[in-house]
Amino acid sequence: MEKYKKRSWAEPYKIKVVEPLKMTTREERKRALEEAGFNTFLLKSDDVYIDLLTDSGTNAMSDNQWAGMMLGDEAYAGSKNFYHLEEAVQKYYGYKYLVPTHQGRGAENIISKILIKPGMFVPGNMYFTTTRLHQELAGGTFVDVIIDEAHNPTSLHPFKGNVDLNKLDALVRKVGADKIPYLTVGVTVNMAGGQPVSMSNLKEVRLYCQKHCIRVIFDATRAVENAYFIKVREKEYENKSIAEILHEMCSYSDACTMSGKKDCLVNIGGFLALNEWDVFEEARNMVVVYEGLHTYGGLAGRDMEAMARGIEESVQWDHIRARIGQVEYVGEKLTDLGIPIVLPVDGHAVFLDAKTFLPHLKQIEFPAQTLAAELYLESGIRSMERGIVSAGRNKETGDHYYPKLELIRLTFPRRVYTQAHCDVTVEAVDEVFNRRESIKGLKMVYEPKYLRFFQARFERL
Ligand SMILES: *Cc1c(COP(=O)(O)O)cnc(C)c1O
Repeated sequence: MEKYKKRSWAEPYKIKVVEPLKMTTREERKRALEEAGFNTFLLKSDDVYIDLLTDSGTNAMSDNQWAGMMLGDEAYAGSKNFYHLEEAVQKYYGYKYLVPTHQGRGAENIISKILIKPGMFVPGNMYFTTTRLHQELAGGTFVDVIIDEAHNPTSLHPFKGNVDLNKLDALVRKVGADKIPYLTVGVTVNMAGGQPVSMSNLKEVRLYCQKHCIRVIFDATRAVENAYFIKVREKEYENKSIAEILHEMCSYSDACTMSGKKDCLVNIGGFLALNEWDVFEEARNMVVVYEGLHTYGGLAGRDMEAMARGIEESVQWDHIRARIGQVEYVGEKLTDLGIPIVLPVDGHAVFLDAKTFLPHLKQIEFPAQTLAAELYLESGIRSMERGIVSAGRNKETGDHYYPKLELIRLTFPRRVYTQAHCDVTVEAVDEVFNRRESIKGLKMVYEPKYLRFFQARFERL
């Protein structure tokens, strides 16, 4: 009955320009996979059919954004595209001041350098790789204050990104609020699998932090996706627009860092947005050192124009419903086939549980790496390992970390693939699932020292 009540959505656009996809034979894929050492990061994108490696900077821009690219004002100072971007950020995110940056980590670098002094602590609802690194480079120590459910892949909590106020309070009591320059709130939480934060949690967090004079800084990279989940999961917000929800969310923070390569529907760009004049003034000073003049921050005028237009498009209900609807569609189909995935399905990716998928492989035989390789071999679809290879080694003992989860991530770029591509993806996963018992594991034959998942090489056992 539920199924009949739900009206299908279709992609809310039609296609004007096409980029042909290359279909390869199994023989060609076998060769490409061996050349890449069974690591999907080392495949040439030319050998990939459907690329679900990441949704970062892989968005398709609209005709309106492309038209905006032609209106790029490439003046060194005071480009009109900067003012358009500033207007869009003020209108939709609600912050007063804007500092453009080349991408998200540029903004993270600047805010970390300004606010963190050596010996300080920076709590956050789970870490993100670049965010935490910039905090550490500035002399801070990251402290995880996300609710326990975030670490449990079988928990069906609707807002697994929520901040645990008890954990935050314990830190404040232990180190003192003056040692905490700000709290980072990721909306949504990428490393927890794109899990959202509820509006009621954001309000409580704001109240608590105000009482203790601690700033709240959003990682707003996927805030529009978070707004979608608030609308569909938090009763009081079901009749509010995505734009209204986004604006209210940001009102519970002092600033945000943003990677425009996600929500903002562009291929490159980011920004820092703030409400405090003093901090803005310093950030505007610093951006000149690291990114470029404060009215372009490492971006061309046309990039800023595309981002301004992308922001406006990103908050449209038809867009966000179809964007997340596509991820949910794949999640539902895989679940119907009995294929093990992480639930609830989140905003940008479906995670396959490789431990359950390939129960005959020991973790040291790299089940997730193996599954990603097999899926490519089967279909030319590229995914990413999130398991023992990504986890790396313990610096002290030199042994592998053995993470609880062995996952592969199927990440959906915005507006790039159609429902038919989704169907093919599901069919390909199912075909691998049907021959899972015959799949053999891998051994690592080359291991780089840092972030080994990018360049490690493997051979079949
Ligand atoms: C991608 C991402 C970043 C970093 O942004 P870049 O544009 O890649 O520098 C920060 N936080 C989150 C949640 C992200 O997804």
